[in-house]
Amino acid sequence: MGPVLNGLIQLQSVENRLRAGKAKLTRCRRNVVIQENQIRSLQNALEAKKEEVQLTKVQSDRLELELKSRDETIARLRASLNSAKTNKEYAAVLTQLNTTKADNSKIETQILELLRDIEADEAECKDIQKQIDEQKQQLERNRPEAGALADKYQAEINEIQVEWNQVAQTIPEKPLEVFKRVTETYDGQAVTVIDQQDDKKGTFSCGGCFMGITAESVNLLMTKDDIIRCPNCTRILVLGNQG
Ligand SMILES: [Zn+2]
Repeated sequence: MGPVLNGLIQLQSVENRLRAGKAKLTRCRRNVVIQENQIRSLQNALEAKKEEVQLTKVQSDRLELELKSRDETIARLRASLNSAKTNKEYAAVLTQLNTTKADNSKIETQILELLRDIEADEAECKDIQKQIDEQKQQLERNRPEAGALADKYQAEINEIQVEWNQVAQTIPEKPLEVFKRVTETYDGQAVTVIDQQDDKKGTFSCGGCFMGITAESVNLLMTKDDIIRCPNCTRILVLGNQG
């Protein structure tokens, strides 16, 4: 190995730090976005609940109105009960009166149930609103902190990027292109060390995919400064410290 391969090893180490820094920045920003989404979904839930309450109120108002008109019917029936002239007429009005009364008590029960629903839903609305307020407060507390942290991470990234550019400048164009391509393929891992199995001398494998590497490739790496890629995963092979 020579300056090119050693340069690639150095570039890989800077690349690792650069990617770690970018990942930290992404996580830091994502936390705020997740919290914003949570608040939005709570707000949607609150709107839906409020609409439900509204609909239930309309329904119970309608039943109240119906009950009122039925109460008037009952008053009218009572009057005609008193003025009934025959037993038969009396009995007929009495049946009608009892039926109306029974219907009324059914409607009253329905109204009570609806009022209970409204009460429960309104309590739920209050609860959701409380959660929204709490989450918003938390977000407002976190936002400046997350912003400052993001700025810090960005500054670190910028610094590492300068370092990356400096190291990249020392590497010839072709190996650098290979490095960039393989880096994209393996999410940052372009350069990998050849492992030597302790128990079997002369048995080597790619540190990235663990496929066997020929002793010839290892010899080439020891004597030359050319890129040798794993025939299986195409990563750039280098020798470790004990190489
Ligand atoms: Zn490999």
